[in-house]
Amino acid sequence: MGLIIYQPSGKAKEYSPWAANFYNGCPGCTYCYNKKGRFSKVLGGETPTIKKSLSSEANAFKIFKKELNDYLPLLRQEELFFNFVSDPCLKETFDLNWKCINECLINQISVKILTKQTWWIEEFIRNEFYYDLGDKLKIGFSITGFDDQEPGCSPTMDRIYWMQQLYYSRYYVWTSFEPIIDPFRSTKFIYAVKDFCDHFKIGLLSGQKYDRQSLLYMKTAVESYVKPEKIYWKESFLNQIK
Ligand code: SF4
Repeated sequence: MGLIIYQPSGKAKEYSPWAANFYNGCPGCTYCYNKKGRFSKVLGGETPTIKKSLSSEANAFKIFKKELNDYLPLLRQEELFFNFVSDPCLKETFDLNWKCINECLINQISVKILTKQTWWIEEFIRNEFYYDLGDKLKIGFSITGFDDQEPGCSPTMDRIYWMQQLYYSRYYVWTSFEPIIDPFRSTKFIYAVKDFCDHFKIGLLSGQKYDRQSLLYMKTAVESYVKPEKIYWKESFLNQIK
């Protein structure tokens, strides 16, 4: 695998068969998976910094273009996810990530992004380059419903407002309800966005044991107002309701 483009395994693979990471560090969430575990010192800092192996943004772009070319036939059949480490739409990470996203789109590679930032969307919607992409560009927002645990991120209600704007401007919009912190709160937020969201990924906080009845309630409630084909219940969730 490359320095930037790779095939994720485990829980991450449930999001995408291919992913790209450029930066370590993100000023966000207290529950972030990058801030835990044995690589947390490298991945989990508060300040986004370009990965040491890439040395600079200019060099990272060169490496990305080469790797894109190496995996082109495979990537064209699937999609590339931006990013598992850090957020692709932070002010510090935006330019390089979107330069690479544009390179993918020019090369007919589908892109999926996941963010908790909204500052960039107003200008994005006005940019003709991104018109009529259909599901070639899937724009995802993470929602837990707990802003106090997400410092440095746009408030949940802003994310919901901009999801709506994107959806009605004909972009493909998806949501990651992972990690669920409170199943009842997540259920309410899924209801709040159900009319302007193309796809839902729903998963639990790694290593946490949940109340099975609450999860069963959540699954039944969500499936009563969202079509099953729009929902992906992650293995972490399904394992705990078995
Ligand atoms: S936005 Fe994503 S990468 Fe950044 S701290 Fe939160 S969970 Fe981690």
